[in-house]
Amino acid sequence: MTTKGEDCMKTKEALAQGTGSSVVVNSCQVCDSDKLESALFLGYLPPVNTMPEIGKRPKEEAGYPAEMLYCHNCTLAQLGLIVDPNILFPPEYPYSSGTTKILRENFKELYDECSQIVPLKSEHLVIDIGSNDGTLLGNFKNPGHRVHGIEPTLMARKAIDAGIPTDEAFFNTETAERVRKAVGKARIITATNVFAHIENIHSIVEGILELLDDDGVFISESHYLLGLIETLQYDTIYHEHLRYYSLSSITHLLNRHGLEVIHAKRIPTHGGSIRVYAARKGTHPVRPSVKEIQEQEANSGLGTKLLKDFKKRVVLSKLHLNSVLLDIKKQGHRIFGVGAPSRASTLINYVGLDDGILDCVVEVKTSHKVGKYMPGTMIPVRDEACLFEEQPEYALLLSWHIQDELIHNLTKKGFKGKYIVPLPEPRIVGSDGKTVSN
Ligand SMILES: [Zn+2]
Repeated sequence: MTTKGEDCMKTKEALAQGTGSSVVVNSCQVCDSDKLESALFLGYLPPVNTMPEIGKRPKEEAGYPAEMLYCHNCTLAQLGLIVDPNILFPPEYPYSSGTTKILRENFKELYDECSQIVPLKSEHLVIDIGSNDGTLLGNFKNPGHRVHGIEPTLMARKAIDAGIPTDEAFFNTETAERVRKAVGKARIITATNVFAHIENIHSIVEGILELLDDDGVFISESHYLLGLIETLQYDTIYHEHLRYYSLSSITHLLNRHGLEVIHAKRIPTHGGSIRVYAARKGTHPVRPSVKEIQEQEANSGLGTKLLKDFKKRVVLSKLHLNSVLLDIKKQGHRIFGVGAPSRASTLINYVGLDDGILDCVVEVKTSHKVGKYMPGTMIPVRDEACLFEEQPEYALLLSWHIQDELIHNLTKKGFKGKYIVPLPEPRIVGSDGKTVSN
């Protein structure tokens, strides 16, 4: 239901890097340029993990600016305020876990692709940073390669139980040195969905260099800025996501540390990500894919014009969604939201949804969010069983980026109503996945 595993897995790492207070961004976090343009401002949003219990009277609640800044020097998009991780990730915050089908398929595909690009022998070591429950490494371990995970959350123990050796630690240069002394340098280092969350990105790359064989390859996966703009995923803008990368900005970051991009590929995870292979300069041939994506980015007009157009489309989609909801509410129909990942909080607060519009948001029974209010609202989060028992006329898919998987599963479980897909263009979909109206 919630985009498990896609919903910030790297939270404790962020905490470890925390400064103890929020930091206003005045220069680019990758290239230090001060040529930053304010591309989009979604308002003052509540922290996504501040969810009061149902029945408690609302108290004052802080709002933090959700402003996207764009760097004209290296094309990185970044948040204008780095919120104190102690606020974003309160001690009682239970770290999310597990993986979606898309994520599992992606890791398998990563293994297949990686085996072709970087021939691996069984004695070669593969290290995954932010290794979660070991799903990614399992793909390398099964054919007999040495693997090692680094994961700060309790998920490390789940990985260990599954036979994946894992350090329960934050990733930084000290951890990198300790792991290198214990298991040696790695032929492959992977880091998926890590680059966006950690405040000091340069120290992460330094740690990777410490651990990487001289001819080793580093593979990162990050949410892709161009995909975000194309499919209007403004709802992935929230305080846990500090940066939104293009290939150009990742290249800029890696080049500063002596690494060269040797292959890049767009992949479907998180609604659109980019996988980037990098190695020490001159150690591996550079594939044509790098130039191809660089040219796509250059031709996309990434810069002021594209960002202005993006902002306009975001605003129109908000108004459009409101008009779709207006028609439904005029007819007296009920709407349940489905899924309460972090991105749902951005959409709900930016569009201005309240408990008069959405009766509730449903989550799987085991979710820690059940029994609480959505951030910044009095919309209750309930066990998803109520969706099938009460059969509201409409279900609003807040994890719309995995809509096919959701529609299939919810219909199979017995939901008979229609689905509202909120983005990029609001549309109403029947249980067969076909658009009814928009
Ligand atoms: Zn920059």
